Amino acid sequence: MVRGLDSIERVGVVGAGTMGSGIAQVAATSGYDVTMRDVERAFVDRGFDSIDDSLGRLVERETLSEAEADAARDRIDGTTDLNDLADCDLVVEAAVEEMEIKRDIFGDLDDVTDDDVVLATNTSTLSITTIAAATDRPEAVVGIHFMNPVPVMEGVEVVDGEKTGEDTLALAHEFSESLGKTTWEADDKPGFVSNRILMPWINEGIRAYDEGVATKGDIDRGMKLGTNVPMGPLELADHVGLDVCLHATETLHEELGDRYKPAYLLKRKVEAGDLGKKTGEGFYEYD
Ligand code: NAD
Repeated sequence: MVRGLDSIERVGVVGAGTMGSGIAQVAATSGYDVTMRDVERAFVDRGFDSIDDSLGRLVERETLSEAEADAARDRIDGTTDLNDLADCDLVVEAAVEEMEIKRDIFGDLDDVTDDDVVLATNTSTLSITTIAAATDRPEAVVGIHFMNPVPVMEGVEVVDGEKTGEDTLALAHEFSESLGKTTWEADDKPGFVSNRILMPWINEGIRAYDEGVATKGDIDRGMKLGTNVPMGPLELADHVGLDVCLHATETLHEELGDRYKPAYLLKRKVEAGDLGKKTGEGFYEYD
C-alpha cells in the first residue's frame, strides 16, 4: 500500500524550472510543505523568483491575500541536495525531458524516500513504464502531468503506467484534486492524450510558416479566430519552449513514425538557441 492523501504533509518537487516552480507554488498555496530541488543554487533561486512573481500577481488580482502568499512562500524550502527529499510523503519530478536523466533521478529517489512514497513524473511524452523500471517500486510510479502555467491551468493528466497500482493511480487523482485541479486519465502511450494531439498541431503550424503558407501572425490569428483557442501554434510553441516541443515531437516521431517528424525550422531554431519566451526570442521577440 502506498501512503494515502491523509498522510501527505510534505511534497518533494524535482526541478525548479517553468513547471517545477509552478507545481511547488500550487502545492504550497494548497497547504502542503514543499521541498524544491534543482541541480544548482542559481536554478533554485530562479524558481523562487518566478514563484514570487506569480504570487505577487495573485495578490494584485486579490485571488490571494498578502498573508496567504507569505505563508505559502514560507512553506517552500529550496535545495540542491536530493537527500533533502528523504522526509517527503510524495514526490513530483519536473526535471528536463530526457529519459536517462529521469531514470537516474527515479533510481536516486527510490533510494532516498520511504518505500510507500509515490513517485510521480510530470513528463510530457516519455514512458512512465520505462521511468518506473529504474526503481524497485514500479507500482508506486505514476504520471501527474500538469499543464503550463501550473497556477492558472485547471487540467491535470494522470498517466497509468504498465505497473502503476490502483492505489497509486487513485492517489494521483486525489492529490491533483486537492490542488484544485480537475483530472483526466490516459494510458502510458506516446504523448498520452494531450501531447499526442497538441504537438502535431504545433509542428504543422511551424511547417506552414516555414513553407510560406501565411505569415506567423496570420497563422496564429487564423487558428485563434478560426478555432477559438487562446493561442495560435507559434505563440504556444514560444510559451511552452521550443526545446520542450522538439523533444516531445522527436519522442512521438520515434515511437509513432513519420507523421510526427519535427519541422525543419523547429530544429534550426533550437540549434540557434532561440527557445521561445524563456530566451527572449522564438518565433516572436520578448522583453
Ligand atoms: P525547464 O527547462 O524550465 O526546467 C527543468 C529544470 O530541471 C531546470 O531548472 C534544470 O536545471 C532542472 N534539472 C535538470 N536535471 C535535474 C536533476 N537531475 N535534478 C533536479 N533538477 C534538474 O523545463 P520545464 O518546462 O519546467 O519542464 C519540466 C518537465 O515538465 C519536462 O519533463 C517537460 O516535458 C514537462 N512539461 C513541460 C511543460 C511546458 O509547457 N514547459 C508542460 C507540461 C509538462
